[in-house]
Amino acid sequence: MNLRQDLLELTPAALMALANPGFVKRAQKDLAAGIAPALDIDASGTIRATYDDGCIARLPVGCTLRDAQCSCTATAMCRHRVTLVLAWQAHAAATLSAPSTERAAGRAQVDADAAWSPAQFDLASLASVLPPGVMDQAARLRQDGPVITVYPWAGAASPPSAQLPMCSVRFFARGSIAHARCDCRQGGNCAHVVLAVMAFAQAEHLGPLQSPHTLQLHSVDAASDTASGWDTAAQALHADIDALLLALWLDGGAQPLIAVAARIQALRSRAQAQGWCWIEDALAELRQLLQARQARSTRFAPLALLDLVVGLWARLQSAAQLAQQRAPALPAAQVLGIGIKGEVALDRLRLVSLGASLWSDEREQGATVLWADPDTQSVTVMARQWPREATATTPLGERRIAGHPLRQLAASQVITQRATRSANGTVSVAAQRQHTGLLPLSPRAWDELGAPLRQPDPAALAAHLARQPPAFTQPRLAAAGVAGGAPAAFHVVQVDALQPAHVGWDPITQTLHADLVARDGQGIGLRLLHPHRAAAPDAVDVLARVLEGHYGALRAVAGNVCLQGGALVMQPVALLTDTQAVVPQVHPAVAALPLPAVAPAASTPLLDTLEQLALMLQQGLRHQHGGDWERVQEQIHGLQLAGYRQAAAQLGHPRAALVPAQRSTLLQRVSVLALLVRDLSA
Ligand SMILES: [Zn+2]
Ligand SMILES: [Zn+2]
Repeated sequence: MNLRQDLLELTPAALMALANPGFVKRAQKDLAAGIAPALDIDASGTIRATYDDGCIARLPVGCTLRDAQCSCTATAMCRHRVTLVLAWQAHAAATLSAPSTERAAGRAQVDADAAWSPAQFDLASLASVLPPGVMDQAARLRQDGPVITVYPWAGAASPPSAQLPMCSVRFFARGSIAHARCDCRQGGNCAHVVLAVMAFAQAEHLGPLQSPHTLQLHSVDAASDTASGWDTAAQALHADIDALLLALWLDGGAQPLIAVAARIQALRSRAQAQGWCWIEDALAELRQLLQARQARSTRFAPLALLDLVVGLWARLQSAAQLAQQRAPALPAAQVLGIGIKGEVALDRLRLVSLGASLWSDEREQGATVLWADPDTQSVTVMARQWPREATATTPLGERRIAGHPLRQLAASQVITQRATRSANGTVSVAAQRQHTGLLPLSPRAWDELGAPLRQPDPAALAAHLARQPPAFTQPRLAAAGVAGGAPAAFHVVQVDALQPAHVGWDPITQTLHADLVARDGQGIGLRLLHPHRAAAPDAVDVLARVLEGHYGALRAVAGNVCLQGGALVMQPVALLTDTQAVVPQVHPAVAALPLPAVAPAASTPLLDTLEQLALMLQQGLRHQHGGDWERVQEQIHGLQLAGYRQAAAQLGHPRAALVPAQRSTLLQRVSVLALLVRDLSA
């Protein structure tokens, strides 16, 4: 007898992913109450389930749950289809325990606890079961050489999965490709599933995988160990981007923006033609930052520009080196973002708010809402902006996104039917209210998030940050860039075991300071900083109220966070207490608390040097005068005294390299120096 082994492997968690939790819970309840359909199976293995309500559901071999037929009115998914699988599992279990069939069935049964890999799927036979055109589409996508991370089977509860540039695929049944789930709009039986199978085959070419592995998919004709090369077009584009960066260093903001913007636009088009997604994204952000500088936007920060310019130089430099190596530790394509598609339409997206950040400048104001996608554990970003004059009467918190007021949206969970996600994690949702439903963000809303996004305490977060490879080798995420309000990694961290101390106001930098310290005085704490912003004038007061305990005991905070001299510093955009979520920048106004004045944090020679480099990039090295160079000389001295001899020696380089004979080394010297100081100051 055909046991439909493919269906026996589907755990309740898999069914929830393939259908939805509501149908699974309902089906479990019905079966537990003895309400079960009548089942039969024909010679081809098609199962038919007949329900008391007269509906009949049929599930042929190789058919996805969504494509199964049901006589009810539901078009996409219904409880009959889900109940069919659970009822069949109960039926098979009963059959297996019957003594007469035990031996025969036992032979047919695959051990659900045995490791397996999607590499076992044969591509030739997939072609005969997948919809027409899917294999051709997969072959075309493969030609772009996408970078894919494969996660091998790790127990019945964590089936094999693959993270593609634009979506992720999970394999729920070893015998059936129909039960692989993709989070693209098709939901499965799509080209992404085929690419994931190809990636597993390539990754396990030399043997089974024990841990996650990232690779660039070879095109069919490419030999497996040849370097991807750095052809003349790549060399020319690299040289021209370096020339742009050198011009920025030499002239700073003195160059007319319109000319620089045109130059950046031309380079973006070439990067796009080359398929260098992360380079194009960095150039787009560069243009955005230069515009923000010109418009005196609160989004502009000199250090953000420094990090971006230096990061772009380093990304190209490391890609050029990796491309020459025969077996690089990291594919150059990953550093450049080759094979990453612009936008992908997503099926049924659920997002959990991680807070919001507001900004304004002379002409516009805007908001960035940050989200966690619990399915992929990634951070995504929604950004909107409005012309200033039109919003003069509407507070920013009342502006609408997807039909909902920003104030409400940013403190919610969102379920949306029509969304697209771009490579850097920017999400756009349909403007109509009926496509996007909201649930309030509960005090437990972040509990389903896991590492690396959510860390159990500051010590774990600090250890995670210290282990990270350089950002310029990693995918570019909008949440870690200008969009998030601070150029640093975005995380959620639990602070249950900590309490606020030293809450104060620094009147010089207009910033609220607070330290969260462990109640037992042990271990690492978390420093929170929140500058006053014209776009969100009440945020500091709201944050002070949270720290005072007004909304309950603080449990977790979310924001961009970095290591500074071994200490964790975060700019929080959302906080959860044991009673509610608080998003300070969109929260209604509260009465101000009197805060003690605190002195700005003592500077260090390294932070001074970073700020000096950021200032040089602002003003242009060519426009530094005697007094400026004297200050540099003092900093060299300060670095020497503090024992940073290498950084001290290199800080003399930019001035020396200004002479024409040395000019060709200037960009490299100043970039290497900035990377070194950034590294030392972490
Ligand atoms: Zn139905
Ligand atoms: Zn797909």
